[in-house]
Amino acid sequence: YMLQLYQPLNIFGFVYRGVKEALIDMEKMFVLLAVDREVADAPGAQPLAISGGEVRFEDVSFGYDPRRPILKGISFTVPAGRTVAIVGPSGAGKSTLSRLLFRFYDANGGRILIDGQDITQITQASLRAAIGIVPQDTVLFNDTIRYNVAYGRTEATQSQVEHAAALAHIDGFIAGLPDGWDTTVGERGLKLSGGEKQRVAIARTILKNPPILMFDEATSALDTHTEREIQRNLREVSRGRTTLVIAHRLSTVVDADEIIVLEEGRVRERGRHADLLALGGAYAELWARQQTADPVPEGGVAAPNDA
Ligand code: ADP
Ligand code: MG
Repeated sequence: YMLQLYQPLNIFGFVYRGVKEALIDMEKMFVLLAVDREVADAPGAQPLAISGGEVRFEDVSFGYDPRRPILKGISFTVPAGRTVAIVGPSGAGKSTLSRLLFRFYDANGGRILIDGQDITQITQASLRAAIGIVPQDTVLFNDTIRYNVAYGRTEATQSQVEHAAALAHIDGFIAGLPDGWDTTVGERGLKLSGGEKQRVAIARTILKNPPILMFDEATSALDTHTEREIQRNLREVSRGRTTLVIAHRLSTVVDADEIIVLEEGRVRERGRHADLLALGGAYAELWARQQTADPVPEGGVAAPNDA
């Protein structure tokens, strides 16, 4: 069981932390175990050979229970180095798409390809090594800031760790901590703001250096300043990498190469921001609603907003 546990726990540190600290998250653990047994490497699976990191969903269908389809024939391509955003109401299937790409589950129909390789035909280790996840609400370990940044690539040298921190704009913050890199952070140590925690996650991801990025934005309300800071961070780290953004705030997706509006497991609209506004459909409506729900006075603090 420990061997089976290792992989998903390594990827989702927040589950590990739950287990480590309180043993309360048994349900999640069993879900991961079940998932891990369900998805196996194909006989003779080869490691993924990355060229540019193109991600392609071809007519993908999926249901956690086959009697209840969640995704109903989803097709889209994220060209190498580009950004595609998935938006839509809660329950539409957005996070399910990211779970399929990470191969926590296999699609019931259709295929998911990375650089032309069906992800069911490559090793899971190589698939997961190629994808970096930046969650919006990163959970930190009760350990040093160094441990928290290097987590996931513990063999990294201090200079590599510092370089990643600099690229994530968290180096100045760390330099100002009472014990610098040895400062304990997390619940029983120094508390970091949402933006600072996310920069730690970005530093981790930079250290991992994956060609493909996946952001699944949390729904929790953030103040406008932190939200903007986070958007800047994400734009920087995604430059030149294939990026799939699941966005709750449409202000995040304005620059995406394609926006996909998902509703009840189907693509309802797709296009660039300006095209979708001009279409005057679901996206335009969602956009209008968020504008009025979140007036941002210059230099002021707006009301928290969530889709
Ligand atoms: P979104 O991220 O767009 O809010 P999700 O992809 O999380 O939506 O969920 C889509 C649908 O799948 C929802 O109806 C949800 O209840 C269901 N669902 C999500 N996870 C599971 C699961 N592990 N088992 C069964 N149903 C699930
Ligand atoms: Mg979701």
